[in-house]
Amino acid sequence: MPVQPRDAFSSPRFAQPATFMRLPYRTDLTGVDIALLGVPFDGGTSYRPGARLAPREIRSQSSLIRPYNYFQKIAPFDRLTVVDHGDVDASPISLDLAYESIERAISSTVSAGAIPVVAGGDHSISLPILRALARAHGPLALVQFDSHIDTWEQDFGSPYFHGSPFWHAVKEHLIDPARFIQVGIRGPMYGADDFAFQQEHGITVRDIGQVHDGGIAATIAEVRRVAGGPTYVTFDIDSVDPAFAPGTGTPEVGGLTSDEALRLVRGLAELDLVGCDLVEVSPPFDGPGQITSLLAANLLFEMVCAIAKRRQG
Ligand code: MN
Ligand code: MN
Repeated sequence: MPVQPRDAFSSPRFAQPATFMRLPYRTDLTGVDIALLGVPFDGGTSYRPGARLAPREIRSQSSLIRPYNYFQKIAPFDRLTVVDHGDVDASPISLDLAYESIERAISSTVSAGAIPVVAGGDHSISLPILRALARAHGPLALVQFDSHIDTWEQDFGSPYFHGSPFWHAVKEHLIDPARFIQVGIRGPMYGADDFAFQQEHGITVRDIGQVHDGGIAATIAEVRRVAGGPTYVTFDIDSVDPAFAPGTGTPEVGGLTSDEALRLVRGLAELDLVGCDLVEVSPPFDGPGQITSLLAANLLFEMVCAIAKRRQG
């Protein structure tokens, strides 16, 4: 039997140094199927900072996660070896150096045969992750849950920030725009031409109105229709309504509920997931009970289960 989380019947949930879901911390990834990594970096943030503090808080809140997923009918830790691979020591000062560290860490994770499931960090970290994964798998399908499009070209003269990762990912051919879908888009925009990039490249957008009018099942069907082949999932916590997830850098009202977010991630189980991230949690802006980090921990568990479900065959 692969490694298991610490048993809550013999070790209190709030005891021991916090790891993701109370799994063992491992630097050696030999024989590991899924590596949970933290990327405590928020140097790409344009509004409220704090996402650098998220991996620690998400680990702490993940202590409550129980090992069986009732809705997916799967015990992922019985099937796959899942470990906490620690954090990337990303420079808090230099975005360029941080990107190098992140890409290197993901490359070595993939070389070891493990699927990376990453807790950010702001959304700028998805670009170096995609660079490493595309080198291994070729151009990827991308499923992005977000209130923002994140396909702007630059900010303050810097090409890299948390609003530009997917502009670069398309331009660098890391992702296939025909297999790229954005879900949950909303909020005030800069102008009518904000979606020109999407139209030019044939990127699919499912805005929050379409999600709610069409329903969750139809949204999942659309995600499955667009994505195919090796797929990366990036979940920006601001796709969730700030009533449920206030601890984030750039909140937009009128979003997904916690339950809708969990259902959408659960719906990814049929896809060939080669990596996932959960980004933009900012603990200093969180509400009482650290509800945003708690939701983030549960979403990461659903990602792990979605990967395990497909492996189950
Ligand atoms: Mn984003
Ligand atoms: Mn966002």
